Amino acid sequence: MKLQEADAKSLLVAQGLPVPPWEVAHTAEEARQAAEGFFSAGAQQVVIKAQVLVGGRGKAGGVKLAGFPEQAELIAGSIIGMDIKGMTVRKVLVGPAADIVKEFYLAAVLDRAERGILLMGSAEGGVEIESVAVTNPEAIIRRHADPNLGLLDFQARDLAFAMGLGAHLKAAVAIAKGLVTTMKAYDADLVEINPLAIIRETGPDGATAEKLVCLDAKITLDDSAIARHPGLEDLRDEDEEAPEDKQAREAGLTFIKLDGTIGCMVNGAGLAMTTMDLVKRAGGEPANFLDIGGGARSDKVAEAMRLILSDPKVNAILVNIFGGITRGDEVARGLIEARSQQARDVPMVVRIVGTNAAEAAALLAEAHFETAGSLDEAAAKAVEASRAAGAAGTAGTAA
Ligand code: GDP
Ligand code: MN
Repeated sequence: MKLQEADAKSLLVAQGLPVPPWEVAHTAEEARQAAEGFFSAGAQQVVIKAQVLVGGRGKAGGVKLAGFPEQAELIAGSIIGMDIKGMTVRKVLVGPAADIVKEFYLAAVLDRAERGILLMGSAEGGVEIESVAVTNPEAIIRRHADPNLGLLDFQARDLAFAMGLGAHLKAAVAIAKGLVTTMKAYDADLVEINPLAIIRETGPDGATAEKLVCLDAKITLDDSAIARHPGLEDLRDEDEEAPEDKQAREAGLTFIKLDGTIGCMVNGAGLAMTTMDLVKRAGGEPANFLDIGGGARSDKVAEAMRLILSDPKVNAILVNIFGGITRGDEVARGLIEARSQQARDVPMVVRIVGTNAAEAAALLAEAHFETAGSLDEAAAKAVEASRAAGAAGTAGTAA
């Protein structure tokens, strides 16, 4: 689950990290009021930022500065409703504009292969790190932190010096360690600050001082761990969730959409992966990864079927169930029910083995389902059905 910048910043603040103040506005009017507050507190300019779950808002025109409240209102009005990379902006962040001296990049990401936390830092901040990785890979400093110990002081100092943050060592160390603490506190996969910025602050007496702050924040939480953190679920922005992802989450299904034509319904993640591999080996392309979980009852099966069929590219379905906790006859009933409500007719090949396989086979035979004994046979039949449907579809278009 991706967090909006404002929510990510709240988590950073809760962990004691330096973040300039902000308010979230849903309308241009609210943005003007927020701006008035910052101007009367001494801001020379305010920044208005689209709150939308995509990167590169700056380049897309979703980050702008305003010099007085009415201008903030005008700009917020133009940003709200704007389309950025297919997402509609529904709210903006308003805050005092930072006087940026230099921008850096700093992120903590989960490194599964290393079973640890990877810190990535760069003096080339503000721009997309993916492009730095391509054009100037040496500019990215990488350091690993132990997931239990966190980032140790000497590691944080080493990272800060390597990034060219020696002049702001204390703050840089606190921020680097804070990213790891934040990551662990909320079970995040990613905590990214881009830009981490040295900003110039002018005091009431006109004296200036430099400060290191988190100007942008991106946090991705591990969906499987959200249940451990009461309150974080409320930060989910349903407006920005793909409809099929929302449907799957609400039905308790693990679903990942892919590009192929063969819908796969399987119980168990390992079996789902195997099924996809076999579909590919038989010459087909899976349309999705779908794990209906253990003990899936018929309503869940019907929901999974709706999800698969909502993808217009799907022209064949392969059902592969290993009955353990999940009873084969229950799944068979679910399939029969789902087919009777099915929006469109798509060939289906079913393989059910394990608990109550015989009952399942009898039910499926009675309902005239195409079944298969082995996984190889099931995959071959599904690929064949998909090819035939594809050819028929092409012929239809030509005629
Ligand atoms: P992103 O493009 O979605 O990553 O949004 P960011 O929050 O990173 O903003 C993009 C760029 O806008 C930053 O790299 C800065 O150069 C600029 N920017 C953001 N906030 C401020 C600010 O308060 N003052 C100034 N002068 N520039 C800002
Ligand atoms: Mn950014």
